[in-house]
Amino acid sequence: MPLPASAIDLHCHSSASDGQLSPAALLELAAAQGVQRLALTDHDTVAGLAEASQAARSHGIELIPAAELSVSWERRTLHVVGLQIDPDNAALAAGLATLQAARLERARAIAGKLEAIGVTQAWPRLLAATDGGQPTRTHMARLLVEDGLVKDMKQAFKRFLGSGKPAYVRAEWASLREAINWIQGAGGLAVLAHPMRYPMTANWRERCLRAFKEAGGDAMEVCSGACLRPEVEQAAKLALKYELLASAGSDFHGPDQHWLQLGRLAPLPSSLTPVWSQFSAATLHSPQQ
Ligand code: MN
Ligand code: MN
Ligand code: MN
Repeated sequence: MPLPASAIDLHCHSSASDGQLSPAALLELAAAQGVQRLALTDHDTVAGLAEASQAARSHGIELIPAAELSVSWERRTLHVVGLQIDPDNAALAAGLATLQAARLERARAIAGKLEAIGVTQAWPRLLAATDGGQPTRTHMARLLVEDGLVKDMKQAFKRFLGSGKPAYVRAEWASLREAINWIQGAGGLAVLAHPMRYPMTANWRERCLRAFKEAGGDAMEVCSGACLRPEVEQAAKLALKYELLASAGSDFHGPDQHWLQLGRLAPLPSSLTPVWSQFSAATLHSPQQ
């Protein structure tokens, strides 16, 4: 029997990147929310998957091993989610290692800029906050809020961390083709994350989808985040036009995002083929059955 839409969430973060909850705490929340199939998609890392999969077993949740890879395309940053990847695949691990090195280098540069702006001890505080996980701009934004330089996370990006702002540092991530190859080489499906959220015109969005498809991409997120209906309908049209499978994920980062809940997604339009129809049967042993 197919799972109801509310039981599937294929995009969320733990403290292995910029999520607020540990992988185990995230899985506990997912269980409480009635989620039955969850993909943990931390930024450029699979480090949270072992703890998550152990917790998933104890809660009877099917965990899809996944990650959200950073991509540079046409001087923009895109995110590509790899679903159902083998986290031990050597080429994927090497690819993730290059992304992690780029992340660390960018974080150091941003921390320097933040200190110049007046954030005290930005680098050691960042290291403490990430606790071995991947440093992200979300962590930097929290420092700006903590030090009272901005009133909220949104302002932190708008005034300091966003493109062209005083603490912005451009990073060179993987190419589209590299990211897709790493994912598919590790047995996974490559999903363009939140295509409607990139700051680009409709024309550029279509160029981006065409490039993703041409590079061998499998799917795109049609329901993402709070999932507003007009956005879903627009995304559905694009998925059909570019012959991409459809994915759905909250992009949940933690309880601070009070407008967002894990596993509370609108159903995918019935005209689309869900990406999970292509999941290999090997991992689809539902613990409930
Ligand atoms: Mn994030
Ligand atoms: Mn993303
Ligand atoms: Mn994400």
